Amino acid sequence: MNYDVVIIGGGASGLMCAATAAYRGRKVLLLEHTKKIGRKILMSGGGRCNFTHLHNSPANFLSDNPHFCKSALSRFRAADFVELVDRHGIEYHEKTPGQLFCNESSKEILQLLLTECDWAGVEIMTETSVFEVEQGAQGYHVRTSRGQFDVESVVIASGGLSIPNGGATGFAYDVAEQFGLKVTPRQAALVPFTLQPDLLEHLKPLSGVSQPVRVSCNGMSFSENLLLTHRGLSGPAILQISSYWHAGDEIEIDLLPQLALEDWLKEQRQQRPKAELRTLMAQHMTKRLAQTLCELWGFEGEVGQYSNARLQEVVQQFKHWRVKPSGTEGYRTAEVTLGGIDTNEISQKTFEAKKAPGLFFIGECLDVTGHLGGHNFQWAWASGFCAGQFV
Ligand SMILES: Cc1cc2nc3c(=O)[nH]c(=O)nc-3n(C[C@H](O)[C@H](O)[C@H](O)COP(=O)(O)OP(=O)(O)OC[C@H]3O[C@@H](n4cnc5c(N)ncnc54)[C@H](O)[C@@H]3O)c2cc1C
Repeated sequence: MNYDVVIIGGGASGLMCAATAAYRGRKVLLLEHTKKIGRKILMSGGGRCNFTHLHNSPANFLSDNPHFCKSALSRFRAADFVELVDRHGIEYHEKTPGQLFCNESSKEILQLLLTECDWAGVEIMTETSVFEVEQGAQGYHVRTSRGQFDVESVVIASGGLSIPNGGATGFAYDVAEQFGLKVTPRQAALVPFTLQPDLLEHLKPLSGVSQPVRVSCNGMSFSENLLLTHRGLSGPAILQISSYWHAGDEIEIDLLPQLALEDWLKEQRQQRPKAELRTLMAQHMTKRLAQTLCELWGFEGEVGQYSNARLQEVVQQFKHWRVKPSGTEGYRTAEVTLGGIDTNEISQKTFEAKKAPGLFFIGECLDVTGHLGGHNFQWAWASGFCAGQFV
């Protein structure tokens, strides 16, 4: 059992790193503690894996050090992964501009990675628990439920905290702290918001209704769909802004981002003074949403009765709806973990810990978090590929 490299975590970044290193002639062992390799790949993109984003760039990532991701993202681009996908004959389509999804199934992306690992000669062990990573005189001792492996390089690719019942652990952060590396505060991200009980009671019957909105928080805005759920607010707009939200913050929702509402309402007041406000608003959203919001905000009656000041109140509510979420659904449903291992501790070229030569960290466990839309996988591929050239 002689290996050069042990990679801990059989997810997106670990598989990419394993194949890359093994193609260089390194003897690579990949350890996964669950039964299943690549579980999040299988779950992703509603079963069709949004495997990259054509317009991926460093601007799509949050990190205390926004420069860290630049080097890896420029060395392994979306086009490089697309080339791999093409080479494996996987058919895909572009959904929302830039977002690439498999036509058939996420299984194809996992199979691509497993095939590459197989061709490169990676050995994979599932259902293997890692008890300890210890620095030796030369390299590392990795103690596991299948014995001890003494290797030159260890790669921690065990991901973040989201979906704990799918195998997520805080292993990477524990190892980082064991070796004296700083870990930034973490929170669930790309996650739905929960609402205060009184607001939820009003909105709950609208569960399933969606509306294109522009949502803003802490200086960031996203124009995408909002989805009302029986727990609160979800949909791509909300998942995106959740990465910028901190407990106690308000978010602002423009329910009609494409409409100059005040001008339009004034026109309507002239042309259709007898029309109820809710009827007018239902031209721009579902009838139920218009009715519920008009009731919630007390906008009753015919538009002809509305003064300019009252119309401005309508505009204020529909275009600047301020909502204070009670929280998020947490790691149970979050797509990713915001924060993680401080990138100042890691070489942006090799992904090696500066304080622990031979110990590498890649993927989501680092303080690099992508926007929704394939950016998180692109980070996993890029960081895995780059580290794979140095382990
Ligand atoms: C429901 C869902 C949908 C998503 N959809 C998309 C999408 O469409 N596009 C996109 O870009 N991103 C998506 N993401 C995010 C994406 O899945 C992650 O960013 C990505 O998988 C991170 O890769 P990783 O290799 O760092 O970690 P993971 O892929 O999470 O892999 C980590 C692996 O390490 C294993 N592990 C954990 N602890 C240990 C341990 N102690 N010992 C051994 N093994 C361990 C885990 O079981 C897991 O297999 C989605 C996430 C979720 C939860």
